[in-house]
Amino acid sequence: MRLNEIVEMDRKYYMNTFNRAPVCFERGEGMYLWDIDGKRYTDLLAGIAVSVLGHSHSALVHAITDQASKLIHCSNLYYIESQAKLARLIAENSCADKVFFANSGAEANEGAIKLARLYFRKKGYPEKYEIITLEKSFHGRTLATLAATGQEKYHKDYCPLTPKFLSVPINDLDALEKAINPHTCAVMLEPIQGESGVNPTTHEYIRGVRELCDRKDILLIFDEVQCGLGRTGKLFGYQHYGVEPDIFTLAKGLAGGFPIGALCAKDSVASAFEPGDHGSTFGGNPLACRAGYAVLSTILNEKLCENSERMGQYLVDSLNRLKKENPLIKEVRGKGLMIGIELTKPAAKAVNAKCLEQGFLAGIVGDSIIRLLPPLIITKQDIDEFIPVFGSILAREGLHS
Ligand SMILES: *Cc1c(COP(=O)(O)O)cnc(C)c1O
Repeated sequence: MRLNEIVEMDRKYYMNTFNRAPVCFERGEGMYLWDIDGKRYTDLLAGIAVSVLGHSHSALVHAITDQASKLIHCSNLYYIESQAKLARLIAENSCADKVFFANSGAEANEGAIKLARLYFRKKGYPEKYEIITLEKSFHGRTLATLAATGQEKYHKDYCPLTPKFLSVPINDLDALEKAINPHTCAVMLEPIQGESGVNPTTHEYIRGVRELCDRKDILLIFDEVQCGLGRTGKLFGYQHYGVEPDIFTLAKGLAGGFPIGALCAKDSVASAFEPGDHGSTFGGNPLACRAGYAVLSTILNEKLCENSERMGQYLVDSLNRLKKENPLIKEVRGKGLMIGIELTKPAAKAVNAKCLEQGFLAGIVGDSIIRLLPPLIITKQDIDEFIPVFGSILAREGLHS
């Protein structure tokens, strides 16, 4: 089909939920995607932090095709080998002892919220059910995770919100301490906020939050849906801080594009769940977990966290060099390959459209932040090809408006 036919069909039959760029991709390989007209693009967004191994990685393709030919689905009423193996691989490489699989980030976060409430209920504190989150956070689009998300723009048309969530400013320990009350059961936060344009928490803050949670008997939940799995140069975002959460969640990159989410917790907390307390039809099915196992073991075996750290630093350094000669760049921030470029003008949309035209996929946050979340396999050469093109786009856009 031709692009205009696809666009027409989409407009007629698909709900109008996305502002889409006028492109339709047909296939991908490594860092590259090709659209239906055969034009090649370098993917610096990875489906919003999803395609961590790039496209069509042989380990992932093999795992999915092999598993699909054997067994795609079987209910959680039975034991599932790949599920047990992926849970073990996550537990062996993180601070968690136990894992539960869902199908998305929002769903994993829903599980985290339920687990925190249940934990205190079973301990004899049914009045502890409130969750404190951070302003500018993003935790998903289900009703509870929407309430947890500290951004008015996601709330405003869906009131009344699910009650008993409140948010406080990031990196403000006093504000958090003041918000804690006898009903608080958990603090939930992203160690590095993604959807609001890459805003990291400070070491001091995260250590303070951990100490506060211990002192007040509150659970600490990290939403690692975006910052986990090597994105920031370490396997998990929390590893930058020398602090362990009681619960953390994963999704996006975990199966490299196959839908999966994971709720991970310390034994003492996870044991609140008993048969019947939580569940999922698709969650943790043989295919999703085979895909997840292939991705996580490839990240570990191919040392992609190290590559993320090295290439992230190289990309940030290169962008900071551009900044010196380019007044359109206000600030470059990020960790590893989770990078936000804040512009001095609301030109993000125009810059991003030009990048697309020139064959580079990036993302935007609001009007003035460009976001890069490339596959963890990115090389110096990919970065060296992007930087001069990006520089000339910025130079041209800087002259406008
Ligand atoms: C993307 C994201 C989610 C939601 O994940 P879905 O799979 O879209 O439900 C939750 N938290 C964070 C930090 C995210 O970046």
